[in-house]
Amino acid sequence: MTASRHIAIVGAGIAAATCARTLLQDGHRITVFERSHTLGGRMATRNSPFGTFDHGAQYFTVHDPRFMQAVQATPTVCKPWSANVTQLLDEQGHNTAPSSIATHEPHWVASPGMSTLAKHWLQPLLEARCIEMQTCVIAIERDSLNRAQWQLRTEGQDDSCHVYGGFDAVLLAIPAPQAQVLLKDVAQAQALVAQTAAVKMSPCWTLMLAFPQAMQPDLSALGPQWNAARSMHQRIAWLSRESSKPGRSQIERWTVQASTTWSRDHLHDDAQRVQAKLVKTFAELTGIHAEPSYVDTKRWLYARTEMPLGQSHLWDHTSGLGLCGDWCLGSLVEDAYVSGLELALSVAKTWEVGAG
Ligand SMILES: Cc1cc2nc3c(=O)[nH]c(=O)nc-3n(C[C@H](O)[C@H](O)[C@H](O)COP(=O)(O)OP(=O)(O)OC[C@H]3O[C@@H](n4cnc5c(N)ncnc54)[C@H](O)[C@@H]3O)c2cc1C
Repeated sequence: MTASRHIAIVGAGIAAATCARTLLQDGHRITVFERSHTLGGRMATRNSPFGTFDHGAQYFTVHDPRFMQAVQATPTVCKPWSANVTQLLDEQGHNTAPSSIATHEPHWVASPGMSTLAKHWLQPLLEARCIEMQTCVIAIERDSLNRAQWQLRTEGQDDSCHVYGGFDAVLLAIPAPQAQVLLKDVAQAQALVAQTAAVKMSPCWTLMLAFPQAMQPDLSALGPQWNAARSMHQRIAWLSRESSKPGRSQIERWTVQASTTWSRDHLHDDAQRVQAKLVKTFAELTGIHAEPSYVDTKRWLYARTEMPLGQSHLWDHTSGLGLCGDWCLGSLVEDAYVSGLELALSVAKTWEVGAG
C-alpha cells in the first residue's frame, strides 16, 4: 500500500489552488508557500476606500469540461459577467484587432473579487493552517535529515528566515522566469529547467481609477455607455468598469491595462510618470475628464505568456520536482487551472494513495 506523501506547493495562484485541492482530495499532505499577503496570484483584487479593483485577470473563459464542472460547482463565487466588450480603434481610426479575438464568448468573474476563487478552493488548507503566507521560497535543497526528501529555505516579510523540511515533492506553481531562478542551483532540476528555456512572458502596467463623484445625480452620465473595451491604441489595450461586475460596489471605478509593447518600453519608468500618461489616454478614450479621487498603478513583470511551454506541466517522478502555471499552455486563467490539475493528476498517479 502506498502511503500519503508530504508535498510542498510554491505559489497560491489558481494553478497552485487547483493542484493543492486535487492532491488534498487524493489523500496527500500539502503545505502551500505564498510570498504575498493574499491568495490568488494574478487573479488579484486590490482594496481601495472606494471599492475593489481586479487589477490582474479581468475575467475568465471556460472551455475545458473539467474547468466548467469546477466553475459550476462553485456558483456562489463564479458569476457570469455581461461585459458586452466593445472594440476601440487605433489612433488612425483602424481596427487592427486579430480576428481570433472573440468578444462575445461568455465571460466569468469570481465574486466579490477575482482572488475569491483561489481563496475558496484553498479554504480547507487555510483552516488546517497548511498555508504559509508572506513566505517567499528562496532555495530548494535536499533535506539535511533525509536526502531522499526536500527542504525549502524561506524569507518572511520581516526578513525572518526559516527552513521547512520533509517534503517528498516540491511543485512550483509560479511564472516560468521565477521558477528558473529558484531551480538554477538544483542539480536534479536542470533537465526540467532546460525545457522551459523558450518560454517568454511579458509585462503589463495596470492603472486603477475611482470617481465617487459619479454617484451624484447630476454626474450620473459620466463615461461611456460600454463597460469593457479592447483598445487598439498603442498605449492602452483594455479598459473595464469594475462596478459593472457582479457583487462589486457601485462606485464608478475603472481598471486599465497598458499594451504589451508600451509596458515593455516603459518597464523601468517612474510609476508617477506612467500613471500620468495612462490617465491622459484613459480620458481620451473614455471621455471621462473628471479628476479621479483615487489613482494607483501596478506593474506586473510577468503578466501574460508570449511563448508557452506547449505541454500542460512538467513532472519528474524520480526527483519529485514539478512545474505548472498558465505559461505551460497559454496566458489565461483556464490555462493555469488545466496546468495545475494535470500536474496534480500526474503526481497522484505516481503515488496512488491506498493502491499497491
Ligand atoms: C494584468 C493582467 C491581466 C490579465 N487578464 C486576464 C484575463 O482577462 N483573462 C484571463 O483568463 N487571464 C488573464 N490574465 C492571466 C491570468 O491572471 C493568469 O493566467 C493566471 O492568474 C495565472 O495563474 P498561475 O497560478 O499560473 O500564476 P500566478 O497567479 O502568477 O500565481 C503565482 C503565485 O506564486 C507566488 N510566488 C511567486 N514566487 C514565489 C516564491 N518564490 N515563493 C512563494 N510564492 C511565490 C506569487 O506571489 C503568486 O501568488 C491576466 C494577467 C494579468 C497580470
